[in-house]
Amino acid sequence: TKKEETTLEPSVVLQAPLTVTEVKVNVSMSEAAKKAAATGADGVGLLRTEHMMLTTGVHPKKYIQEGNEAELVKVLVENVLKVADAFYPKTVWYRTLDAPTDEFQSLDGGEDEPYEHNPMLGWRGIRRELDEPEILLAEFKAIKKLHEQGYTNIGIMLPLLQHPDELKQAKEIARKAGLKPQKNIEFGMMVETPAAALTIEDFIAEGIDFVSFGTNDLTQYTLAIDRNNENVADLYTESHPAVLKLIERVIIECNKAGVKTSICGQAGSIPAIVEKLVELGITSVSANTDAVAAVRETVARVEQKLLLKAARKLMQE
Ligand code: PEP
Ligand code: MG
Repeated sequence: TKKEETTLEPSVVLQAPLTVTEVKVNVSMSEAAKKAAATGADGVGLLRTEHMMLTTGVHPKKYIQEGNEAELVKVLVENVLKVADAFYPKTVWYRTLDAPTDEFQSLDGGEDEPYEHNPMLGWRGIRRELDEPEILLAEFKAIKKLHEQGYTNIGIMLPLLQHPDELKQAKEIARKAGLKPQKNIEFGMMVETPAAALTIEDFIAEGIDFVSFGTNDLTQYTLAIDRNNENVADLYTESHPAVLKLIERVIIECNKAGVKTSICGQAGSIPAIVEKLVELGITSVSANTDAVAAVRETVARVEQKLLLKAARKLMQE
């Protein structure tokens, strides 16, 4: 059962400068949750499930193939619980499995992962999960269990969407697990494809509570630059006007609809980009543990600047 209070030291909480824009933290390993929480972050903006699964050494599909869904649910519950507990009552956005074939090959049960020429453009993220719905269902069942234990601070975030139909199908699977998307659990999506950014209105119409920019992927897909290819690494930049334009239109549309916006890609640690995002009215910025303090400083500075600008303008009127 869940703990009554936060595990944070009061001094850590007080040291964090106050910002209206929330500053959250990205978590990959459940063992790192306590350290991440000690930054005073306002929640987890990205919990990378695939990293937790990689450390178990077992491919999630192995449990399903062996008819052992219960064990997979148990492993997920154990891992996510550590994070949800370290941050309770702050929100933890659990990202459903984003498993690229090349990374999951080495796992026990991963021997038959298909070989792909372009794994980054291949069978990963939500498209893969909808092809292997038993794994997605097990993930949702784990979250449902945690909810029943009082960990209602967990939200769900879907990776790599390119069409609202994927959102619709994922919600149906969540309902099968007993969850009520957008009713008793926050349900959101990553914006990682230009397709999602350009048609965000359609995803909003389908129903989402929040979006989070996965700028690592959004950049590679917008610029056609494989994020893992050293030959083109010098051309890779999140500051490209095309990437920023996509982000801007999504924030504008989401603000109109009352949908929260966040960023969990590396671009959230680039001061010039943070400045622009805060100016546009992003709800939160999520950074790696070691970058949380610096991002908080940047956000605070930008907010002060904006406030002073607005105040001066008011006084002139
Ligand atoms: C991203 O694409 O920016 C992101 C946060 O997801 P990942 O790096 O895990 O693909
Ligand atoms: Mg990504």
